[in-house]
Amino acid sequence: VKLISYQQNGRPRVGAVHQNQVIDLSSVAESMQQLIEMGTAALGQVRPLLAAAHNPIPLADVHLLAPIPSPRRNVICLGLNYREHAKESYGAQGKAVTISEVPIVFTKATTAVCGPYDDIPYDPAVSTEIDWEVELGVIIGRQVKNVAAEEALAAVFGYTVINDISARDLQRLGKQFFKGKSLDGSCPTGPWIVTADELLDPHQLRLTCRVNDTLKQDGRTDQMIFDIPSTIAYLSRGMTLLPGDIIATGTPDGVGFARTPPEFLQPGDVVACEIEGIGVIRNTIATA
Ligand code: MG
Repeated sequence: VKLISYQQNGRPRVGAVHQNQVIDLSSVAESMQQLIEMGTAALGQVRPLLAAAHNPIPLADVHLLAPIPSPRRNVICLGLNYREHAKESYGAQGKAVTISEVPIVFTKATTAVCGPYDDIPYDPAVSTEIDWEVELGVIIGRQVKNVAAEEALAAVFGYTVINDISARDLQRLGKQFFKGKSLDGSCPTGPWIVTADELLDPHQLRLTCRVNDTLKQDGRTDQMIFDIPSTIAYLSRGMTLLPGDIIATGTPDGVGFARTPPEFLQPGDVVACEIEGIGVIRNTIATA
């Protein structure tokens, strides 16, 4: 099932997309967060509604929000989780390539999360080095702690597309990633959550990023250094993961700052991130 959050009469609602129509799910749950917390019972209620929707709305007529518009805690992100991206990143900084023995984890502020087609604010007084990173987003479905890798995929509710927009100048100056990764609008997410039952192998997906229709990143999720089960197992060691937690699993090579010469997003640019089996998010850098 493809699950969305969308704006209607000024407030977020939860829905499903079926044959380009939106089926309102407010009879099942008030929010995506609540729907996720209901677990498999919720999906059992959703499926019959898809075929028998009374008043479907054309998908094109709704304003999509991020699937979880206001996550209850920060987006958990993996850094340098694709080997070629690790190489380009260290190379651009003139450093020797080192591959970490455990996932490199940082977070993005909840306020960075924005919709799949929203504009990304641009303020040159804050940053002039805004970069792109297409990533597979994993949505946790149930509370887990100390889960074994073999059991970890059972904790996944579904998958989405994330653009881990990064202010490289702030990232470089700050020593710590948080600020440079957390500007408002720096976490476009969506266009929906594809539930895990519909995406049987999340490690066989092509993921691409295009800027103004020029292909910049073209990777496959089987190139991850730490795959999804080992990432969840690692994160959950001594640290409870909660329903609705979002994990951005890292980006393949082809980011802007590592190019020769470096490239950054400019006002008016359109950045489109696509993952096979999920969909495309497309955001315009706002004119200052
Ligand atoms: Mg990233």
